[in-house]
Amino acid sequence: MNHRLFKSKESELRKKMIQIAKLTYSKGMIAASDGNMSAKITENRYLVTPSGLFKGFLEEDDLVVIDKFGKVIDGNHGPSSELMMHLKAYEMRDDIGAVVHAHPPVITAFSVAGIDLTEAILPETIFILGEIKFAQYSTPTTKDVPKAIESLIKQHDALVLTRHGSLTVGKNLEEAYQKLESLEHTAKIISEAVKLKGGKMVEPLPSNEIDKLWEINEKLTGKRRPQKINDFTNDQPISHELISKTVMDVLKEMNFQ
Ligand code: 13P
Ligand code: ZN
Repeated sequence: MNHRLFKSKESELRKKMIQIAKLTYSKGMIAASDGNMSAKITENRYLVTPSGLFKGFLEEDDLVVIDKFGKVIDGNHGPSSELMMHLKAYEMRDDIGAVVHAHPPVITAFSVAGIDLTEAILPETIFILGEIKFAQYSTPTTKDVPKAIESLIKQHDALVLTRHGSLTVGKNLEEAYQKLESLEHTAKIISEAVKLKGGKMVEPLPSNEIDKLWEINEKLTGKRRPQKINDFTNDQPISHELISKTVMDVLKEMNFQ
């Protein structure tokens, strides 16, 4: 891409990023200096939000340009402290052009409560988000965050960073933002349903319905159903309570108890 072309792409992306940052704030997906976003300008040039600033009030000049190793090429502020997570997403997915990280309260609360939403509860989730995957807890801003998302982001566009927030990716900033909005909206509906049931978790769709929806989705979008990753539900460490309960059940079954 020649210089003039990428400069005009960069200037368009700056405008768009400011719009999306304001929207992310006004919709309550971030508070104060939470969250960050990035967009690909060329293979080795990315536009990213600055670190520690109030993202709802950003201006075009606040944005930072970095290369694919995270080195600052242009900008008046330091780049986001989560830039390695963003660069990991681009490294794993050459089909994406933007990454949005936010702290949406309802879906994040599900991860705090340890409630997994991988099995679809609402049909639309499959069409818009595919599968919602919960990444194992990792200390924000450290190199553990890119490690925690590495295997999941290969096949999934919407991740929940346990006890932290969300990571959504898309062809462009609008698409990555829409996935965030849809993720939080899904969580709100499920949370309301759980309240109506007096705090009891709701059932996922029956598996034959989930199969049907994936078939339709594949026909409509060409997107394949993700392979099962060999991990524990919600990526949480295995529960010792669950192990002892299972052992007791097996013993009971064998009449040892
Ligand atoms: P930055 O302001 O450095 O991007 O950090 C915000 C954040 O959400 C950290 O996880
Ligand atoms: Zn964060």
